[in-house]
Amino acid sequence: MNATGFRERFAGEVIGPGDAGYDQARVVWNAVADRRPSLIVRPTSVDDVITAIRFAREQEVVMAVRGGGHSVAGFSTCDGGMVLDLSRMREVTVDPVRKRAVTQGGAHLSQLDTAAQEHGLVCPVGVVGHTGVAGLTLGGGMGRLQRKFGLTVDNLLSVDLVTAEGERVHASESENPDLFWGLRGAGANFGVATSFEFRLHPQEGTIFQGMVAFPIERSLEIAERVREFVATHDDVHVALAFTKSEELGGRPVFVVGSTHAGSVEQAERDLRVFREAGGLMDTFGPKPYLAVQGAADESLGWGQRFYTKAGFLTELSDEVIGLCAAEVETIPPGTELSLWTFGGAVGRVADDAMAYTGRNARFNLSAELMWTDPADDEGRVAWGRAAFAKVQPFMTTGRYVNDVVEAGTDGAQIYGRAKYERLVALKRKYDPDNFFRLNQNIKP
Ligand SMILES: Cc1cc2nc3c(=O)[nH]c(=O)nc-3n(C[C@H](O)[C@H](O)[C@H](O)COP(=O)(O)OP(=O)(O)OC[C@H]3O[C@@H](n4cnc5c(N)ncnc54)[C@H](O)[C@@H]3O)c2cc1C
Repeated sequence: MNATGFRERFAGEVIGPGDAGYDQARVVWNAVADRRPSLIVRPTSVDDVITAIRFAREQEVVMAVRGGGHSVAGFSTCDGGMVLDLSRMREVTVDPVRKRAVTQGGAHLSQLDTAAQEHGLVCPVGVVGHTGVAGLTLGGGMGRLQRKFGLTVDNLLSVDLVTAEGERVHASESENPDLFWGLRGAGANFGVATSFEFRLHPQEGTIFQGMVAFPIERSLEIAERVREFVATHDDVHVALAFTKSEELGGRPVFVVGSTHAGSVEQAERDLRVFREAGGLMDTFGPKPYLAVQGAADESLGWGQRFYTKAGFLTELSDEVIGLCAAEVETIPPGTELSLWTFGGAVGRVADDAMAYTGRNARFNLSAELMWTDPADDEGRVAWGRAAFAKVQPFMTTGRYVNDVVEAGTDGAQIYGRAKYERLVALKRKYDPDNFFRLNQNIKP
């Protein structure tokens, strides 16, 4: 791609294969996605974003849009083509009086968390600080506070977008509401989001969080406690995991984790049901919210290889618990079967309110595999697929799009048929040439 004229028109950074720093600039979070773009551009303004889109269209090359670079499928990089890397557009501002935050399109969750916490506020986001606000929000945004405050997307008030034509569009409930509907769950399809406006909630700096690990043989008995707990505490986050515990010498365990956003006294009372059940290990306690949010930043750092497969459940049946527990026998290192609770504030939003699908889910079950040696790629993916195939019959309509890794997944599986058709109509309106196609693609 000849970028000579473009470099003059573009104020940000332009990095080609011959430039110093190219090999570092092309890296994304998932090392499996090892690709070589023709050009990596780092805009510093909305004007730069427009210039880059127009140039990529002139050159007829594909564009990969990068927010935080966490796409497990590797959608934010490409072979050939242009990467639009928003890492120089990471500003976050907070209005403490109106309880609003505005982030630029390249911001990380940690930046939003930190800026909001400076005012005793919070936006419910994901659980790893270096995930991008953009990709997470445009897909939905699950996290520890979702049962109390909803998904990230439930707290999204507006988006500034640059379309495939290089036009600026503002989308909210009152302006371009059709686009706003689609952006909330299928958002990587319609343009480059240059800024997001969020509603914030009060959250003092401390939160009660941790986990108890039980011997795997006790899974069914403990799951009974979980069912009762989640039915009676619909604002408390519970995350379950089936894995082999490194801290316990590789012992198969059933882990019950929780984040309780109420008072410490209330949390201690509520979580006794797990903490006094004779676990092997207990890490619960009051902790700084920002420390909890950053706790996995290192263990889930860049450069590892990752695969995931996930789906929603409407109930936590003994059959599913039994199947998951049995899988631990063959589970590879660095792998877990993870179950997050839904319902609460997530379930109070109507399913047709936005593209995001799965409001009747009570749990999201995912196989999550992480490893470092490329020689293990095939084996890990095969294990993940096989484990998932066993629990798939229990799953309900909808998938969390950010967890859909397989290329060519039918969009109707993610959104249901009716919503998918509505999304196709929207795609025809905003991106009829399918310029933005490095995503779980809505085909116009
Ligand atoms: C370690 C890790 C932890 C995670 N934890 C959570 C979690 O707790 N909760 C959760 O819900 N998800 C989680 N995820 C999934 C995560 O939400 C998705 O991978 C998400 O797409 C990442 O967003 P990103 O901006 O970092 O990714 P990117 O790879 O930059 O982008 C992902 C997709 O969004 C598009 N995109 C990015 N920026 C923009 C933009 N500004 N405008 C338009 N399109 C854009 C890209 O083109 C791509 O299709 C996690 C992922 C990882 C790797």
